[in-house]
Amino acid sequence: MELIASFQVDHTRIVPGIYVSRRDKVAGGWITTFDIRMKTPNKEPAVHPNAMHTIEHVVATYLRNSDFKDHVVYWGPMGCLTGCYFITNTENEIQPKDIEKLIRAAFKYQAAYTGEVPGATAVTCGNYLLHDLQIAKWEAKAFLAKTWKFTYPKAKRIAAKGKTFFDA
Ligand SMILES: [Zn+2]
Repeated sequence: MELIASFQVDHTRIVPGIYVSRRDKVAGGWITTFDIRMKTPNKEPAVHPNAMHTIEHVVATYLRNSDFKDHVVYWGPMGCLTGCYFITNTENEIQPKDIEKLIRAAFKYQAAYTGEVPGATAVTCGNYLLHDLQIAKWEAKAFLAKTWKFTYPKAKRIAAKGKTFFDA
């Protein structure tokens, strides 16, 4: 089996920000998968599953009600709990900077959110008790306070003396 593209990014050098994880050309446009990276992988604690689940619900609600809603394909957490995937469908190729304002607004909405978590009922969610709004708000604030990057660190795989490493 071939290692899929998203596993070929050097995760030891990723810092919080917005990155293009992949692009797929479809009839009439582009499907872009953005890596919304909230945490520095393997260096700071990942988001707690309960809080990440709440971020999934609240931020998805914001995005799917925004002016950008017709371009939203998917919003959801990464399995590693260090960020989320945001998949968009647009006529033209878009860049992380094109969605920065939207993502900041979505996380501001999460940071200030009060009331019931949308869709967190036994009828509308597969694990409705797995939520933590207070920690989700804290995590959203923490992400907004960070300096975001927008391009993956340039990495080149170098093989020497039987070892494989990355160099910029
Ligand atoms: Zn749910």
